[in-house]
Amino acid sequence: MKLEEAVESFLEKQSYPEFRPKAVFFDMDGVLYNSMPAHAKAWVEALKEEGVSFSEYQAYLNEGRTGHGTIDDVFLQQKGREATEVEKQRIYKRKSEIFDGFGEASAITGIDKVMDYIKQVGWQAYLVTGSGQPSLLDRLEHSFPGVFAQERMVTAFDVKYGKPHPEPYLMALKKSGLHPWEVFVVENAPLGVQSAKAAGLFVFAVNTGILHREDLYKAGADVVLDNMIELVSVMKTL
Ligand code: MG
Repeated sequence: MKLEEAVESFLEKQSYPEFRPKAVFFDMDGVLYNSMPAHAKAWVEALKEEGVSFSEYQAYLNEGRTGHGTIDDVFLQQKGREATEVEKQRIYKRKSEIFDGFGEASAITGIDKVMDYIKQVGWQAYLVTGSGQPSLLDRLEHSFPGVFAQERMVTAFDVKYGKPHPEPYLMALKKSGLHPWEVFVVENAPLGVQSAKAAGLFVFAVNTGILHREDLYKAGADVVLDNMIELVSVMKTL
């Protein structure tokens, strides 16, 4: 869908008076950092060791769900029961070990250009992630100097429900003090898109992984883009 049509249809559906961005809400995994390939491989391997088959594609579809939720889902499908607490802890611990073995993920290609542009036009950046790494702000400051700040972050420590529930994006909106038509979201995962849409926000889904674009449109994305360079071009027309 063309941007103008997407914006028009968004305004009509939400009954908002205008779309005038002043802030951008960024997801982290698969948007700021290219961490999804390692997450997906770690899930596949950890579950395989338990005799459960799980594809990288499924890992991408489940991005944003809690580890325990993902394990229960796949157990229900394949074993007809939920996993026990012991199994869940063992599998999640193993998944984390394998993930850590891949080392720190690099920044997503082109995301530096996105940050340059939003600094240039004076939009504020918020982080909305289910991740709960204690050193997150240090890492963000190192990767994107002067872009993020503690008071503009919603992480695993802040929320009760997490994505796909609207809570994380509603919380970011509240922190921003802005109207929902004054922000937009950059997401890469279907559950993240669902969360932002349920919060009434405009969503650019940037398909940085292996999903079919359809999966992102089905989740409710207003516009699906293939990479961050496309996002920069589109942002310039807002
Ligand atoms: Mg993501």
